[in-house]
Amino acid sequence: MIKAVTGTKDILPSDIPRWKYLEQNTEKIFSNFNYKEIRTPIFEETSLFARGIGEETDIVGKEMYTFKDRSDTSLTLKPEMTAAVVRAYLEHSLGSQQPLVKLFYISPMFRQERPQAGRFRQFHQFGAEAIGSSSPLLDAEMIQMSYEILKSLGLKNLTIKINSLGTPETRENYKKILKDYLTDKKDKLSEDSRRRFDTNILRIFDSKIESDQKLIKEAPKLIDHLDEESKNDFEVLKNQLTKFGIPFTIDPSLVRGLDYYTKLTFEIDSGSVGAQTALCGGGRYDLLIETLGGKQTPATGFAAGIERILLACENEKSFTIPEQSIDVYLIRIDKELEFFVSELAGKLRKENLSVDFDYLQRSVKAQMREANKLNTKYVLFIGGDEYKEGLVNLKNMSTSVEEKIPLNKFELLVTKIK
Ligand code: AMP
Repeated sequence: MIKAVTGTKDILPSDIPRWKYLEQNTEKIFSNFNYKEIRTPIFEETSLFARGIGEETDIVGKEMYTFKDRSDTSLTLKPEMTAAVVRAYLEHSLGSQQPLVKLFYISPMFRQERPQAGRFRQFHQFGAEAIGSSSPLLDAEMIQMSYEILKSLGLKNLTIKINSLGTPETRENYKKILKDYLTDKKDKLSEDSRRRFDTNILRIFDSKIESDQKLIKEAPKLIDHLDEESKNDFEVLKNQLTKFGIPFTIDPSLVRGLDYYTKLTFEIDSGSVGAQTALCGGGRYDLLIETLGGKQTPATGFAAGIERILLACENEKSFTIPEQSIDVYLIRIDKELEFFVSELAGKLRKENLSVDFDYLQRSVKAQMREANKLNTKYVLFIGGDEYKEGLVNLKNMSTSVEEKIPLNKFELLVTKIK
């Protein structure tokens, strides 16, 4: 038997109500903050991500699903959304219609990572991008919005970590400081980190190897070498978060796994999901639009992992979904009435009611069992002497009250069920 590919998962009908609940909450909060939805293709030209995310990142270097199509073009299933949104922003000149463009998305993403709890190869993210302003108040909005979404799902065990990576100049200066610090320790670094020492030294922070992490922990911190502008922006952000009543901690090692960040980076972690604690991450990317061929445009955003959030919700039992139900289940008492029952179901469905009935010639008892399983609000019994007298029997399942309704009073039947 063919099974789903490793690291991918079916979202079954029984899972869907929880997904829908999350999506509806998320969309409502995005709309409260005046973000508009965007949908981009599942695949893009590989160079978009290679250029946008950075060649030395884990995502580009190790995790992308890249393939050649029949005309030998290198394509990649999107591993994240920011580069794709910026591509669409530039391609359709969205910035010329509005100086600040606020967008959100909900979409599958693809990364060939080692699957484990909370880590998949096809997973889903929702997120937002605000392109066109360098205001730290907009960064505060991003953090508030993502926090509000997680709270709207009832999550409690959350920690917000923030950091500033400064301007590109700060980063260049800091890279020199880090290089000086690591030069005589280079032979203690892992092979990957030794390579990154030469190609993109900041990426050493991504290393999951303990000996690398130990060295990095004692390294000079970027946040202690910030330029004035970044320092001020970080102060404004912190003040604003405090005014919003949002708790946060400063984590100087939070550089995040993508090259495009400038100034703010942030992450929201949950204590309820095991090893993969990050539910959501984001930050400012003032360089990306230029890197992808646009004019210099400041921007900020975040992305959150839906599977991981739902896992946290499940572990915290943070919300419950009301039981699913239908309006009415039609029970056919006499076998020969199946044509009539089908016709009546069709008419009721046209009235915008949710209706079902039996196609398997089951007994009345079995039909009743099915009706109970479906948690139907009403059952309509059709057949027997009543039917001969031109009546059907409508039973309200929550009160058990039964009522006979003339078959020629279809409108009345509809009103009763509604
Ligand atoms: P990133 O785009 O790497 O900043 O990730 C943002 C969020 O997406 C993370 O905090 C996770 O919640 C989620 N995420 C990232 N990679 C995976 C994955 N392989 N499987 C499931 N969720 C993921």
